[in-house]
Amino acid sequence: MSLKDYKEKRDPASTPEPIGQGPGSRDGLSFVVQKHYASSLHYDFRLELEGTLKSWAVPKGPSMDPSQKHLAVMVEDHPYDYKDFEGIIPEGNYGAGRVAIWDVGTYHSRKSESKEKTESLFKKGLRDGHFAFILYGKRLKGEFALIRLKKDKKNWLLIKKNDELAIKGFDISSFSDSVSKSSKSLKKKSQKQ
Ligand code: MN
Repeated sequence: MSLKDYKEKRDPASTPEPIGQGPGSRDGLSFVVQKHYASSLHYDFRLELEGTLKSWAVPKGPSMDPSQKHLAVMVEDHPYDYKDFEGIIPEGNYGAGRVAIWDVGTYHSRKSESKEKTESLFKKGLRDGHFAFILYGKRLKGEFALIRLKKDKKNWLLIKKNDELAIKGFDISSFSDSVSKSSKSLKKKSQKQ
């Protein structure tokens, strides 16, 4: 997967975002959802594939409610290390604003738990416009699908499958911005005051 578009949009001297190409995960494939306070608030949904992160911007965010089929706009691949990025992209840079890790975990294809098989099924899914997968996150769990709306277009839907983990009436605004430990401890401190 190419990071050309990603690198062209960013100046490593003026943004703290990771710029290099990580090696990818050794065991399970990673996924991350980053809440991004850019010019318009959105959630970036990213799935690891061959050492990079395939990425979609989801304006309404992911949902655990199968009836909430949310638009997911495919954006440029991001480096694998981006899954750990939480912080501020300074004014004047591409995507300027705060980024919080809203959820993180691993995933595999609905059809296979193997990393190699999942990656080949994911690549086929990107060509065919349909990929079903299982998420093991702190907030997102169970089966999901990405379904492309029109061939050769960047617009997809991110959908929760109606399994035993589905949550009717899921409300993303009821969650804190970040699942990371440092943010949680900050929150506890401020609650004590
Ligand atoms: Mn974004």
